[in-house]
Amino acid sequence: MNQSIAFHTLGCKQNQFDSQSLRVRLLELGFREARKLESARWIIVNTCAVTNRAIAKARGEISRLRRLNPDAEIIAVGCGVRYQPEHFSAADYVDTFPPALRLKGDDGEKNEIGADLPSPHGLIPAGRSRAMLRIQNGCDQFCSYCIVPHLRGRSRSVPADDCIAALRELLAGGIAEIVLTGTNIALWGRDLPGSPTLIDLLKSLVVEAGDSRIRLSTLEPQLISPDFIAWCVSQPQICRHFHLAVQSGSPRILTRMQRGEGPSDLYGFLRDLKCSRPEISIGADVIAGFPGETQADFGLTLNLIESIPFDYLHVFPFSERPGTKAANLGDRVPVSERLKRAKVLRERDKLQRESFIEINADKSQDVVILERNRFGHREGLTSNYRHVTFNDDFQPPGYRFTVPIEKCGSFAYK
Ligand code: SF4
Repeated sequence: MNQSIAFHTLGCKQNQFDSQSLRVRLLELGFREARKLESARWIIVNTCAVTNRAIAKARGEISRLRRLNPDAEIIAVGCGVRYQPEHFSAADYVDTFPPALRLKGDDGEKNEIGADLPSPHGLIPAGRSRAMLRIQNGCDQFCSYCIVPHLRGRSRSVPADDCIAALRELLAGGIAEIVLTGTNIALWGRDLPGSPTLIDLLKSLVVEAGDSRIRLSTLEPQLISPDFIAWCVSQPQICRHFHLAVQSGSPRILTRMQRGEGPSDLYGFLRDLKCSRPEISIGADVIAGFPGETQADFGLTLNLIESIPFDYLHVFPFSERPGTKAANLGDRVPVSERLKRAKVLRERDKLQRESFIEINADKSQDVVILERNRFGHREGLTSNYRHVTFNDDFQPPGYRFTVPIEKCGSFAYK
């Protein structure tokens, strides 16, 4: 019987990690990976709940996969179906595995993907040079617009010894770049005995990392200090790339978001850092049109983006998520105005990306060689998160070295 599975993953790095974790568990149970979505017996679609658009996209993808492979059974899992299962009736199974796919110990009713902390071990993607290591799951912050803590629960950290063991396993498998992921990695350790901090964990990991490098996923700016960034920058094993969930430059709007008033000391430090080290990449998530956001508030966000300056932006027009406080806040910004502000931010994003590319042209970069891209070219990823292409196969995937770059391309960060 055809026992082949395929994954289609939407959303954040957490979802990518969940899919990878589930894939490993299913392969251990004897399933095999389909070479293509078209030939899979089962297609597992890991969905995202972060905006209305994410839910719509997941539904659209399920329909597309149904047309692509009418014989496959489609199983929708993850945050999107946990949040709004009623939107996923087009799938054959919703957050539930058919008997043949039930995992050991499951009752067959619910797949708890994303709800618990799977073992971080055994997550080496075959033939790959980069891998994710989840150090934490869940969040205690309950920002007023965010549904994620309601879906993933409170913060649970992977103990340091387990993180170190997993890192060693990944390094032994030839992985050259480990991306530390979690719902909110800056919370790492708060729930562990003695309340260690993320920097305590990083100090242990960089000792183990050897010639490999460690990339941090999204950081919540209100939870990290200038000292944290300064220490990371001093470590050659940590990538010159920080992605911050900034969301707004207005203290009033940040307060309505339940995110404090904004870490002005951190932003002042980043301004100075970008003056002295412009090659360090700093990106930001920004929400456009949060309830109550006036033109003046939006202007503060634009000022902040320019003054640091951030090198790229991920822009999200505000999207009401039923079940969150922000969904019931007054002073809503009309959808057309949200989209207008998002457009302004995206134009700013384009300019700032171009400027960062110029800054990095003709400079030497710390590069990890990746696998071939879809055009058959050998690619590399710089420490400050840009893709580069090589003309020759002079080094294998996973090789890390410093090389002069002739021409700079676009950012890799998605
Ligand atoms: S810190 Fe991030 S994950 Fe946690 S509630 Fe706020 S936005 Fe959501």
